[in-house]
Amino acid sequence: MATVVVVGGGPAGLMAAEAAMTAGATVELYDVMPSVGRKFLLAGKGGLNLSHSEPMEPFLSRYGTHRALIEPAIRSFPPAALRTWTLGLGVETFVGTSGRIFPVDLKAAPLLRAWLRRLRQAGVQFHIRHRWCGWDQEGSLLFTTPYGPVHAKADAVVLALGGGSWPHFGSDGTWVSILSERKIPIAPLKPANCGFDVQWSEHFRTKFAGYPVKTVEVTVKTVDGIVTRHRGEFVITANGVEGGVIYMVSAAARNVIAAEGTVTLWVDLVPDRTLQRLTKDFAEPRGKRTVATHLKRCAGIAGVKAGLLRDVLSKDVPADPVRLAAVIKSLPITLIAPRPLEEAISTAGGVSFDALDRRLMLRSFPGVFCAGEMLDWEAPTGGYLLTGCLATGRLTGRAAAEWADEHCV
Ligand SMILES: Cc1cc2nc3c(=O)[nH]c(=O)nc-3n(C[C@H](O)[C@H](O)[C@H](O)COP(=O)(O)OP(=O)(O)OC[C@H]3O[C@@H](n4cnc5c(N)ncnc54)[C@H](O)[C@@H]3O)c2cc1C
Repeated sequence: MATVVVVGGGPAGLMAAEAAMTAGATVELYDVMPSVGRKFLLAGKGGLNLSHSEPMEPFLSRYGTHRALIEPAIRSFPPAALRTWTLGLGVETFVGTSGRIFPVDLKAAPLLRAWLRRLRQAGVQFHIRHRWCGWDQEGSLLFTTPYGPVHAKADAVVLALGGGSWPHFGSDGTWVSILSERKIPIAPLKPANCGFDVQWSEHFRTKFAGYPVKTVEVTVKTVDGIVTRHRGEFVITANGVEGGVIYMVSAAARNVIAAEGTVTLWVDLVPDRTLQRLTKDFAEPRGKRTVATHLKRCAGIAGVKAGLLRDVLSKDVPADPVRLAAVIKSLPITLIAPRPLEEAISTAGGVSFDALDRRLMLRSFPGVFCAGEMLDWEAPTGGYLLTGCLATGRLTGRAAAEWADEHCV
């Protein structure tokens, strides 16, 4: 029987192993960590968002400029199929009010446990604490282990080595140099769905780090001049900002910073009130009320929002109702740098799709396939990441088994 080796036991690698096994191959899975699926478990900590229920067209548009490349994988394993697959593991899912798809208990651990049990019963062999280092002179895969080097022969290989964020969970991006040395085009790894640095005052940072800023609308202009607006929440950090709505604008913000040095986010602190209404409310005579009381009474702005307003305006909050309303509807926050890749939710960049054929096989290395976050695509949070990883894992697992079957000696 043909042997498929899968390197990387994240969701993409585990799905590749399952698909290759189902297609009739013998499957050996290697991972550097003492156990597999660590980042998947981490993703479950905040509520495992597996996918999204929106129609296919807007769903695919979330992959932006990389859409065409990832589309075949997702069309062959769309969100509905993903839900059926999880149900097959005994895990029911539900659609949240935002349209996002979650397991009913929101956790990753029960799903991973059931999945690993099924893979082991089907015969997938797991080799943990094996760090992939490339190929030896005979063309076998080379691993370092606590017990010395290991050489593994394979009829086909799926590399599913992840991106470069949260490296202590296993995916540390060391594969970049291995593949670059072999002249495989790789777009530099960059933080995606990440936080950003802002120059807060010491007072604001000390008082409000960790505070959520709810509900706002954030506007950003992309490098191409396209204006996008997103509603949500974010969190003040000691260094700047992070969280939901920041992740939504993070790709655009990161690219503008790379091109121009900084980027301005325009934050509407009271998105449910019109500018006219706010201006009218502020025009009410203030009397003996303090500015803080006036802000709270007329616009509900207090606490962290009031602190943010003062910090951004260097305490110079305008008295004029027209100017005050305008700045509250569009507070400029300057982001100076994305937080480092290690802290990001996901990774942009990776193995260029130019290097791959439609089956995601490396053109210059027939029989070697790539899946998951190590590919050059990015998407916002909302379940698009795991769907992309699982779908590319499934596509490559099947294709690797077919390739191995045709070429094994
Ligand atoms: C805090 C957090 C929350 C998240 N929440 C969500 C969410 O709710 N929804 C969502 O869609 N996405 C979420 N994500 C993103 C999602 O977890 C990743 O996109 C996904 O895990 C990537 O899958 P992957 O299989 O491509 O890579 P990984 O999960 O990173 O797996 C790669 C595997 O390869 C192994 N490996 C790497 N290098 C080597 C080597 N040289 N030799 C051997 N093994 C190696 C690693 O140990 C690892 O097991 C979250 C991410 C984070 C950090």
